[in-house]
Amino acid sequence: MDLGIAGKKAIVCAASKGLGRGCAESLAREGVDVTICARTAETLEATADEIRALGGGAVTTVACDITSEEGRAAILEACPAPDILVNNAGGPPPGDFRDWDRDTWIAAVDANMLTPIFLIKAVVDGMIERKFGRIVNITSSAVKAPIDILGLSNGARAGLTGFVAGIARKTVRHNVTINAILPGPFDTDRFRSNVKVLAEKEGISEEEMFAKRSAGNPAGRVGTAEEFGELCAYVCSAQAGFMTGQNLLLDGGAFPGTL
Ligand code: NAP
Repeated sequence: MDLGIAGKKAIVCAASKGLGRGCAESLAREGVDVTICARTAETLEATADEIRALGGGAVTTVACDITSEEGRAAILEACPAPDILVNNAGGPPPGDFRDWDRDTWIAAVDANMLTPIFLIKAVVDGMIERKFGRIVNITSSAVKAPIDILGLSNGARAGLTGFVAGIARKTVRHNVTINAILPGPFDTDRFRSNVKVLAEKEGISEEEMFAKRSAGNPAGRVGTAEEFGELCAYVCSAQAGFMTGQNLLLDGGAFPGTL
């Protein structure tokens, strides 16, 4: 299926690894010129080279912290008029809400709610003028089924989800859609580090914990960044203009409800 987006320009945030990288790869393969960022320049450059080697759209890198104002300004300078925006950043740490002070909450809200909102604000009017825009927020299955130890993520991402639900109905008339993809367990560095912590807690090896997490999912495995990227590319396609304000759960069936 030709997704009809060759030649478009995309900003893909937090994309040197994991889910963001999966999105950048799938979009670049479709012929989209991608501007990707991450804080660590070395990993970012290595990833950019690997994506370039796949053929497809051009890859531009911006080493920055996307949760900072300077970081957002730098990526917008490198790609001032994107047709596609994939919002992503590292997730907040797990813990007990009794230990979180105001600064901890502000950092989580900054990274996982306000950063995507400010990037949307910066690009959405240009998309409306050009009559094409696809915005995808990478959030979490915790938006649908909150996880107790991830209170910072539950709270900040719920704020973003509520905000987007309002504006996504305003932009779609101009062929600008805003949707979220909600990852369940995906085999990324972040997932592996969570597995390590859980393994230590239970006194088993990381391999055993990984196998346990995989077996516990209805699919009998965890997802791959490539699978995540493919859905993202479809949501960004020319064909997906009638879908907006949706929260697309990609979790191997782990959420047990019908809706
Ligand atoms: P990952 O494998 O650890 O990759 C994170 C990527 O984001 C790296 O490229 C990292 O590079 C970059 N990054 C992190 N913070 C950044 C910042 N402030 N500015 C710019 N780049 C930044 O993580 P992932 O598993 O793909 O997770 C992506 C998002 O999905 C996170 O918010 C996570 O909470 C959420 N999520 C993941 C899963 C899962 O199972 N994997 C499930 C639910 C939700 P640098 O460190 O060099 O900046």
